[in-house]
Amino acid sequence: MTKGTVVKSTGSFYHIKTPEGKIFKGKIRGKFRIKGLKTTNPVAVGDIVHFKPLDNETVLITHIEPRKNYLIRRATNLSKRYHILAANIDRVFVLYTPAYPETLLPFLDRILVSAEAFDIPAVMVINKIDLFKDDPENRRKIERFKEIYGKAGYPVLEVSAKTGENLDELKRYMRDKTSMFTGNSGTGKSSLINAVAGLDLRTKEISGVHRQGQHTTTFAEMHPLPFGGNIIDTPGIRAFGTIETKPQELGDYFPEIRRWKPECKFNNCIHVHEPGCAVIPQVDNGNIAPERYNSYLDILEEISGENSPYR
Ligand code: GDP
Ligand code: ZN
Repeated sequence: MTKGTVVKSTGSFYHIKTPEGKIFKGKIRGKFRIKGLKTTNPVAVGDIVHFKPLDNETVLITHIEPRKNYLIRRATNLSKRYHILAANIDRVFVLYTPAYPETLLPFLDRILVSAEAFDIPAVMVINKIDLFKDDPENRRKIERFKEIYGKAGYPVLEVSAKTGENLDELKRYMRDKTSMFTGNSGTGKSSLINAVAGLDLRTKEISGVHRQGQHTTTFAEMHPLPFGGNIIDTPGIRAFGTIETKPQELGDYFPEIRRWKPECKFNNCIHVHEPGCAVIPQVDNGNIAPERYNSYLDILEEISGENSPYR
């Protein structure tokens, strides 16, 4: 039996890298399915697969090892089918820029909920700090950001893909891990991948006209890091869809709410207006950032809404 990691998917076949560093072109036959989940692509970048020779050029994937986690998004907005973006991720880096473009925090909170639900540790990364040195307004936003996510328990880094500032610290978090960057378009995901991996991936400088024809497909690819570990690049993917979360479970995906939940009077407390709730006082005394609590309430409303399938 030969084993390897899927490092690239092109739609019709998969690049498989063995521990020795050899690359094979893998195909699948028939169907692999995730129980209870309709997917458009059965094999994902990051999958560990077993294979056997098919002909001179190609190998046949015979088995996918159980995934420690995987990121999915709906194939289309209302579709019941899912697209697996990547599997077996050790760490997700969530990018923030206070401006150029401005990142909205509720968007990041949704990314974090997915990461928590998949049990993937997240690190917050403020990028483009070179732009804000003499900009008190945006520096204030950065300081507030650090406070909000620091209280939630996430590491927060300040870096610049452009100047290389603090990239060593970022690399320390990436070393020997399989990582992924998420965040708004334009916050610098490609630039950071290039900077840490010594690559030359496309960045947004390419003109709009060019980009249309060039990178309309969105296949993920895993790149090795020169200092150990891998980065999975998912072009065009800013975030991943929230999985099916029950209102009762949502608090488990906010570390700072999860921490206080055991002290709530009712064990099915959803921390909205229940008597004896241990979470609400922490919001009132500032231990839990109101921005995060508001995101919690918004998502809670979304998943408990009339039309929610998870009700
Ligand atoms: P992506 O959409 O998240 O992949 O963002 P890109 O990597 O394409 O970057 C978007 C734009 O921001 C490009 O013009 C980059 O050159 C620029 N950029 C990325 N990182 C930095 C940074 O640290 N400082 C500055 N000043 N610009 C940056
Ligand atoms: Zn409570």
